[in-house]
Amino acid sequence: MPIDVTTSRVPLGRAHLLASSVIREARRAGLGADAIATVGSLRRCVPAVGDVALLAVVPAARQTQVLNAFSRLPIVVTVTARETSSVSVETLRGPVTLHLTDPDQAGAALVWHTGSRAHVTQLQARAERLGVRFAGGHVARATGAGVSCASEQDVYALLDLPYIAPELRSGDGEIEAAGEGRLPRLVSELDIRGDLHMHSTWSDGRNTIADMVSAARQLGYEYIAITDHSERAWSSRKLAAADVDRQREEIDAVRAQARGIEVLHGIEVDIMHDGSLDFDDEVLGRFDIVLASLHDDGGHGRARLTERYLRAIHHPLVNIITHPTNRVPGYSDGYALDLEALWAAAAETGTAMEIDGAPGHLDLDGLLARRAASAGVTLEVGSDSHGVDALGRQMQFGVGTARRGWIEPRHVLNTRSAADVRAFIERKRTRGS
Ligand SMILES: [Zn+2]
Ligand SMILES: [Zn+2]
Repeated sequence: MPIDVTTSRVPLGRAHLLASSVIREARRAGLGADAIATVGSLRRCVPAVGDVALLAVVPAARQTQVLNAFSRLPIVVTVTARETSSVSVETLRGPVTLHLTDPDQAGAALVWHTGSRAHVTQLQARAERLGVRFAGGHVARATGAGVSCASEQDVYALLDLPYIAPELRSGDGEIEAAGEGRLPRLVSELDIRGDLHMHSTWSDGRNTIADMVSAARQLGYEYIAITDHSERAWSSRKLAAADVDRQREEIDAVRAQARGIEVLHGIEVDIMHDGSLDFDDEVLGRFDIVLASLHDDGGHGRARLTERYLRAIHHPLVNIITHPTNRVPGYSDGYALDLEALWAAAAETGTAMEIDGAPGHLDLDGLLARRAASAGVTLEVGSDSHGVDALGRQMQFGVGTARRGWIEPRHVLNTRSAADVRAFIERKRTRGS
């Protein structure tokens, strides 16, 4: 069921591709912009982006020339609106707006165009109390005297606040928290030591295990898990129980070649209609890590779906529940679930809940991740990559989604060492036995 049919929201992944191709062309064309960056909901990592907007730092004397050159980029089909310091265009891949700013107001413009509207409105109110005028991407003293705000830090400092990360700027408490020194120490991509969710050609992935491992090494990961789909999964290709040992042999061969990265043999096993798992315990026990997911709701309602999850969460071999609500940003809200019951069971049994970075998931959503973390649930940020090209990008989206949920490194399983991840798995396996 579409949830957003009246506005044209673009899924984060597509918005990111559009913005990066326009930035690439702008750079190639030597646009004369000192810095060009994404702003708006794309920069805040909102799952369904409203407008794809860019901001470039250009001295006033060159702005007309830059707007002209931008309008003539090969990717641009037509100009839909133009003002003194901005231009909106229709490109081959969708609409984009470019805003320009003077270097000495670059920080103010960046905050202004990044939004959200609620965040900016609250900043404006605070500014007014402090005798500062913040409007239209400019900051000035109420007396009219100019103030240089070259960086975002300058803007927040002027308002007596520490820097607030873009992903937090939703206008629901971050400014108060900043004012009281209560901002989280947000997880960042640098904290991520491994990726525990990806597919290979053994199921519906596009690359071999060896290719995935070598791409992960280039990202600097200490470990990864190969987690293909199980036999009865709702997927185009899947791993048969009879092939598990052959896959393990291939992983062993790759391990012998790949130095400096640990490769876990994992599985994304489907949760069946009765809450049992697609593979029996004897097969599951041969994997180093087990991810469980519900790809097929079976037409079930809240109680039955919750029950299916609870059964999986209580299974001693299940370590991570992937994309728990199965929402599709911009299209479907996902399952109705008794989330509080899931958090409680996950926290109690030592089962992690995923923040899946695939643009079609971004699930748990930041807000739900925040609730899960405060209920004591360990989170895992997974790329759910189906190819080498998605490894870095989808981890970036996953981390961005986590940051929207105020998630800190201490909440995230894959900020820990490989040994600590193995200990997490082992604790659940031996729990109660
Ligand atoms: Zn999945
Ligand atoms: Zn997956």
